[in-house]
Amino acid sequence: MTDNKLSAEYDIVIAGGGLVGGSFALLLERLAGGSALRVLLLDAAPVQNPENNAGAADFDARSTALSWGSRLIYEQAGLWPALASDVTAIRDIHVSDRGHFGATRLHSEQMGVDALGYVAENRHLGRVLQQALRDSKQLTVCAPASVEHVQPLSDGAMLTIKGASLEKIKTRLLVLADGGRSGLCQQLGIAVQQKHYGQQALICNIAFANDHQGQAFERFTDTGPLAVLPLADHRTGRERQHRGALVWTLADTNNINAKGEQEQYSAERIMALPDAEFIDALQQRFGWRLGRITQAGARSLFPLSLTVAREQIRPGIVLLGNSAHTLHPVAGQGLNLALRDARALAGLIVTAHKGDRSPGSMEVLQAFLAAQSGDQSKTIAFSDLTTRLFSNSQPALAMGRNLGLLMMDLMPPAKGWFARQAMGMADRRSARL
Ligand SMILES: Cc1cc2nc3c(=O)[nH]c(=O)nc-3n(C[C@H](O)[C@H](O)[C@H](O)COP(=O)(O)OP(=O)(O)OC[C@H]3O[C@@H](n4cnc5c(N)ncnc54)[C@H](O)[C@@H]3O)c2cc1C
Repeated sequence: MTDNKLSAEYDIVIAGGGLVGGSFALLLERLAGGSALRVLLLDAAPVQNPENNAGAADFDARSTALSWGSRLIYEQAGLWPALASDVTAIRDIHVSDRGHFGATRLHSEQMGVDALGYVAENRHLGRVLQQALRDSKQLTVCAPASVEHVQPLSDGAMLTIKGASLEKIKTRLLVLADGGRSGLCQQLGIAVQQKHYGQQALICNIAFANDHQGQAFERFTDTGPLAVLPLADHRTGRERQHRGALVWTLADTNNINAKGEQEQYSAERIMALPDAEFIDALQQRFGWRLGRITQAGARSLFPLSLTVAREQIRPGIVLLGNSAHTLHPVAGQGLNLALRDARALAGLIVTAHKGDRSPGSMEVLQAFLAAQSGDQSKTIAFSDLTTRLFSNSQPALAMGRNLGLLMMDLMPPAKGWFARQAMGMADRRSARL
């Protein structure tokens, strides 16, 4: 975008301008204030014009659940006013187990907050980030342009860029925010630890008869956990449909269940059902909390795995977002965790810069790991545990989780713990920053 302004050297180069790289750049700009931190953001994909992206409401639009903690981070980045105009607040979370007695409800008032979280359509999030990046006076954004090669140096890294006016750019810190299949990590020999759940997430938007009133539902079923997040009503002319985003975790086709049989409700089978049969299968599992399910939009499948990089820092290099950890989407923690990492890293970089220290020094990067590794391991363990516990139909585990849900409803501290994890506030005492 501002290719003609490219310099041969930067303090920070961010490789990847997705939700994480873009948010990190804007946080850095806000926290740095007027200090002369030279930041370049590169993305391999062309930048979308925010105005071209503002089209009519799309029933099938994809969305992300932002925690209350992420709202606070976007407030800090100065982006919340623009985001708030088009998000749906989650006032209650209803957690239940199909065919069993345990259930619990988490209410925003009990947690002392306006909302437990928010559902944002991805294109709205992207639009707000793109607009802020376009308006930025301090950040240099260049797209489409990709980092093709990284040569580590004693004081940073030398990058080979494709698609920009300069082919070689030196940086004191390279932030790898290039996503879950990071080619740059592979090139640097950064190994990953990967666990496949043998499951896929079926994603689609659905319409139902009743107003969701800001309720999100997490329901554990014989086929796997199923979440419905509240979305804004979809309007076409005079017609108005109550809408929600479905994330249904289903076993892979070839999975063999505890009885030694092939899974009857595998992801691919449910995916291939005609609409009416799909709605029927879903209604049987979700129940009638929102009345009749009247429509299901375009379905897509995402294979589920947990991927964590074995190294997150090297001198002059740090990993952020999906390149550092790609989580199971059901617990809705991936972007939320990455935003907390991004804020911690941005804060440490700005402090180092003000103290005339290099942002790529191991002292700064180790301080980042020390600050975030507890949050990362807790969040990863939380989403891994909920996935394994709640997608297992073995009687002992089913009994355990039902007792867990019942206990959570009876014991406010346990419920508070669960809510704080889900809100991205596990390490904070107050709901405010
Ligand atoms: C179905 C589903 C539902 C989810 N729901 C939630 C949720 O409710 N809440 C939540 O918190 N999280 C959720 N997540 C997780 C969340 O979507 C991810 O954590 C987040 O999108 C990761 O963003 P990223 O910027 O790290 O990666 P990406 O979005 O993959 O962005 C990487 C960017 O890097 C660019 N790039 C790649 N290589 C290069 C290169 N060499 N040079 C320059 N640029 C490059 C790409 O063009 C891309 O723009 C969900 C995930 C899925 C799959």
